[in-house]
Amino acid sequence: MKKDDCIFCRIAAGEIPSNTIYEDGEFRVILDLAPASKGHALILPKEHYADIYEIDEETAGKAMKLAKRMTTHMTKALACDGFNILQNNHEVAGQTVFHFHIHLIPRYQNAKNNDILMWSHETFTEEEMAQIRDSLKVK
Ligand code: AMP
Ligand code: ZN
Repeated sequence: MKKDDCIFCRIAAGEIPSNTIYEDGEFRVILDLAPASKGHALILPKEHYADIYEIDEETAGKAMKLAKRMTTHMTKALACDGFNILQNNHEVAGQTVFHFHIHLIPRYQNAKNNDILMWSHETFTEEEMAQIRDSLKVK
């Protein structure tokens, strides 16, 4: 289902122009408007899913397969030195456009902003780690 007030639905459908680098029946891959690096791209499903919670497993799997293909292709084309694949869900996690998308972020050894994805670390006691592990075990 397409959502009329969703910018990524409209871009994915081709109603709003974008710098498209790949398109098939289910996905469009576009260059990010405010790139973190040269070649930063976004995989957009053509159907509207707000986030990882809404998207079905099959489509999520296809999106990840496409991420693998695009990463291989883009690494060759850009001669980049590494790659981040990133996907944000909900505002607290940095999501700003509420249509599921996967970031493809090429990384370069000599880039000026190589700390773009650095995070600080939290520490937990062994006991806390055991509690976390137990609460997260998939049964
Ligand atoms: P996120 O913060 O994970 O929701 O990512 C949204 C991304 O979409 C950001 O990196 C924005 O720069 C990018 N973005 C927003 N609007 C557009 C647009 N019209 N065309 C291309 N990229 C966009
Ligand atoms: Zn949408």
